[in-house]
Amino acid sequence: MSAYDPDNIFAKILRGEIPSHKVYEDEHTLAFMDVMPQGTGHTLVVPKAPSRNILDADPETLSRVIPVVQKIAVAAKEAFEADGVTVIQFNEPAAGQSVYHLHFHVIPRFEGVPIKR
Ligand code: ADP
Repeated sequence: MSAYDPDNIFAKILRGEIPSHKVYEDEHTLAFMDVMPQGTGHTLVVPKAPSRNILDADPETLSRVIPVVQKIAVAAKEAFEADGVTVIQFNEPAAGQSVYHLHFHVIPRFEGVPIKR
C-alpha cells in the first residue's frame, strides 16, 4: 500500500486550497457534498487526520469519524426525505477508491431508484 499523499484532493479541501460545499465541520471531521453525486444528497464524510483509507487509519481517527457518519446519515435521510441511506467506503484501487484520503459516502436512497453501487 502506498504512503499517504498530502496533495490528494480531500487534503486540499481540508486545507481550504480548493472549494467544497461543506455541510458539517467539527475539530476532527468535515462533511461536504460529493461533486459527482450518485444520487440526491450524496455526501462525503472525512476525518481531518491523514489516513489513506481504513487499512491504515488509527482507532482514534475511526472513533471520531464514525459518529459523524451516523449524524450525517440521519440528517441526510431527514433533509432529503429519503426512504433509506447507503453508507459505503472503498479501500485501494481494486475496491474502487480513487481519492486517497479516508472517506465515507453517505447516499440517501429512494424506493425504486438504483445507484451505480
Ligand atoms: P470513486 O471515485 O470510485 O467513487 P472514492 O471512494 O475514492 O471512489 O470516491 C471519491 C469521491 O470523491 C467520488 O464520489 C467523487 O465524485 C468525489 N470527488 C472528487 N473530487 C471531489 C471534489 N473536489 N469535491 C467533492 N467530491 C469530490
